[in-house]
Amino acid sequence: MSLKFSVLASGSSGNAVYVETEQTRLLVDAGLSAKQIQILFEKAACGEVADIDGILVTHEHSDHIKGLGVLARKFKLPIYANKNTWNAMNGLIGEVATEQKFEFEMESVKTFNDLEVESFGVSHDAAEPMFYVFHHNGRKLALMTDTGYVSDRMKGIIRDSHSLVIESNHDINMLMMGRYPWNIKRRILGDHGHISNEDCGHALADVIGDGTKHIYLAHLSKDNNMKDIARLAVEQTLKTYDISAGEQVILHDTDASQPTKLVLV
Ligand SMILES: [Zn+2]
Ligand SMILES: [Zn+2]
Repeated sequence: MSLKFSVLASGSSGNAVYVETEQTRLLVDAGLSAKQIQILFEKAACGEVADIDGILVTHEHSDHIKGLGVLARKFKLPIYANKNTWNAMNGLIGEVATEQKFEFEMESVKTFNDLEVESFGVSHDAAEPMFYVFHHNGRKLALMTDTGYVSDRMKGIIRDSHSLVIESNHDINMLMMGRYPWNIKRRILGDHGHISNEDCGHALADVIGDGTKHIYLAHLSKDNNMKDIARLAVEQTLKTYDISAGEQVILHDTDASQPTKLVLV
């Protein structure tokens, strides 16, 4: 009776997370080429891509759907997304057979064999972006990146997860001093952009519960962040709430091209 996952890749260049139980195997997003995703499956010992039960889509940005069409066609995989995301993906992922298209509405729960999946909305500049919480045998895993802020509603949904994959997108100073044009900086910093390392720390302080142990800092900006900076900022923010990273909770890195170990939630 186990829930396992691996963050196959995370960052502005491509995202994919693998989740499995005894009876169910799902991929969340396919934001790298089909070939790269197959390589990541091998590296993380996640078995064959052909055997997964489906791909859950969070939103239509290319760092989340780059390999989606090719992967789904190649292995005849079902794709799950909400109606607005399906419409927005039209023309971006090529032809997908009707029998492979499934709707997964925001703020709903779907059961895949022995795995319960709950969707919830985030604040991001896509058609209807949403992320997922997985429940299996009393264990809870939450995934949440690509959001400009973390509302109380979102916090309520991801609160007291045993493992949590959460966005820690940028260091505000690196972003402000960096080479991005102002309109892009404004987009990233805005309510429909991405959350900073500090914002991640503040949100975490509100959602860490007695059961929370493993926190994966995800979707780091390649240009405006570094793993050490993100970890340190989150650690220091948590400290202001008397939460000690390293003891109470463990912070893990994610990588743009290396999968995290396939581990129990
Ligand atoms: Zn996005
Ligand atoms: Zn993204």
